Amino acid sequence: MKASAMNPTSIATVSLSGDLPEKLQAIAAAGFDAVEVFENDFLTFDGGPREVGRMVADLGMTISAFQPFRDFEGMPEPLRARGFARAERKFAIMNELGAELMLICSNVSPQALGGIDRAAADLRELGDLAARYGVRVGYEALAWGRHVNDYRDAWEIVRRADHERIGVILDSFHTLARQSPLGPIASIPGDRIFLVQLADAPRLDMDVLSWSRHFRCFPGQGDLAVADFVKAIAQTGYSGPLSHEIFNDQFRAGSARRLATDGMRSLIALSDQATPHLPPRAQVLGVEFIEFALDEDTATELSGLFSALGFRQTGIHVSKSVARWSQGGINLLLNTEKDGFAQSHAIMHGPGVCAIALRVDDVEQAMARAAGLKIPSFEQPVGPGELQIPAIRGVGGSLIYFTQPTGDLGHIWEKDFAPVAGAKTLAAAALLQSVDHISQSMDYEEMLSWLLFYSSLFQLDRIPQLAIADPGGLVESRPLVSASGSLRFVLNGSQATRTLSSRFVSEHFGSGVQHIAFDAPDIFAAVTAMRAAGLSFLDIPENYYEDLEARHGLEPAFIDALRDHHILYDRDGEAEFLQVYTHVFAQRFFFEITERRGGYAGFGAVNAPVRLAAQAREARPVTMPRSLRER
Ligand code: MG
Ligand code: MG
Repeated sequence: MKASAMNPTSIATVSLSGDLPEKLQAIAAAGFDAVEVFENDFLTFDGGPREVGRMVADLGMTISAFQPFRDFEGMPEPLRARGFARAERKFAIMNELGAELMLICSNVSPQALGGIDRAAADLRELGDLAARYGVRVGYEALAWGRHVNDYRDAWEIVRRADHERIGVILDSFHTLARQSPLGPIASIPGDRIFLVQLADAPRLDMDVLSWSRHFRCFPGQGDLAVADFVKAIAQTGYSGPLSHEIFNDQFRAGSARRLATDGMRSLIALSDQATPHLPPRAQVLGVEFIEFALDEDTATELSGLFSALGFRQTGIHVSKSVARWSQGGINLLLNTEKDGFAQSHAIMHGPGVCAIALRVDDVEQAMARAAGLKIPSFEQPVGPGELQIPAIRGVGGSLIYFTQPTGDLGHIWEKDFAPVAGAKTLAAAALLQSVDHISQSMDYEEMLSWLLFYSSLFQLDRIPQLAIADPGGLVESRPLVSASGSLRFVLNGSQATRTLSSRFVSEHFGSGVQHIAFDAPDIFAAVTAMRAAGLSFLDIPENYYEDLEARHGLEPAFIDALRDHHILYDRDGEAEFLQVYTHVFAQRFFFEITERRGGYAGFGAVNAPVRLAAQAREARPVTMPRSLRER
């Protein structure tokens, strides 16, 4: 479903991994209207221009541009004549391809002569040549162009060239990277803009060329004001394609299908930001439940852990073998069904979290926004009288269910669960209050995908990415939090194969929830009660506490209490954070207990290397490679 408010959608083949046919298929499958054919993808393809043109047409798309054509304008002879000869050859190829627009980027050659009128004269003459081939030429300012590096100069050259076959190409990266003002865009007539290219990027302090060639990403994944750029474009009346042009090392290593889907999601979310046409991003009020899929034996073991953490079984599903465990505002489900979604998740990934239910302000709107963003929904059969809880597909094939405070979806516990006798008596004594955060591990290449997924669907703010030292290598960690703290996700990805995060992904056969943190009103009381119930916590080395004493000048008695309870500590101004970890369960996931004091907003990143090292010490010995085992 494409909203009518949107410009035609396009993406440059350079943005994706794979060979040309793979790229084109992925692009078409994601629903793009058009594609920019990158010359290199064409040159490395084992087939002629007509064949490429036919592939694109058979997939129901058009070619939005053939690119790039370099170092043309303002050249001295004989380079000038050679430039025209090169252009003519490209025009002939474009005729066979069925491409109607050629992209010229501003000259970077040291031989290029400056002068706006000289460049305009060259383009005007090129316009006459283009007319003979029935094609058009768009001129783009590269941020590192030798004489022209600002779109305002590129437009002035196009304006003076004054040729119907010559227009300007605007690129969000080149514009925003140089912090060129966006206001003057509005004075360019929409029909003089031949193409609009989009790319975002994280804020990095590096040279623009390397930044552009390696770190571009889809709008919504970086830090540039691409929505403002698109709003400025909209004021011109431009009705042509919005085309992603992404150079990114992570993308080149990723799946073409996933990236093409992300690209489409990014365009939809971006155009919605510029001109709203979808329901607003869903406001998450809280985590309704977290569901674990497991076999009977593991479920019994995990119930033991839940019970030591202070949870009690409060309900049993009316028709499925699903147990509800609760404490404070937290609900955990243990699903041991023999068929259905949870069972297939358990077979595929082993014991773990198969679903998260989020309480949102309006389920219908959240589902409509998800559909608008092309996020697949999920349904499975329910018993008579039971609720169909709307769900979408999330990280690693897990589900995200939606509930809301009002209507039937505000009564899932009464409708689908029978209470367990005596459960009512425990509410007052909760050791844990709510879900503080949910941490998900994923392939490093997937981090930007899930970042876009979550932040385009929900009202979540992105907190800058942190690199955390694991004994096995670096782990990149990216928190996404709601303003009220009702939902906090932490995305973790690592390129090193021996980090805890990477081992989780490989042993779990994909991305998923690696740890869940619960908020305790009094972490010391919680740890004491849990220990009395037989639980022990991750061992933290003495050196950590000695350093803590030196770093924060804490009272010795307080340090002793932290040490004695295996609690890690962080401080940010007057705000304090206390955290403690369980041992890893079934070599897969673990729980954290946190106490936030005075509005602490982080996640104790300074403690993460200590925690990771402790977990690495406790991990089972590294499995012998198969080749050795079989000897
Ligand atoms: Mg460009
Ligand atoms: Mg944590």
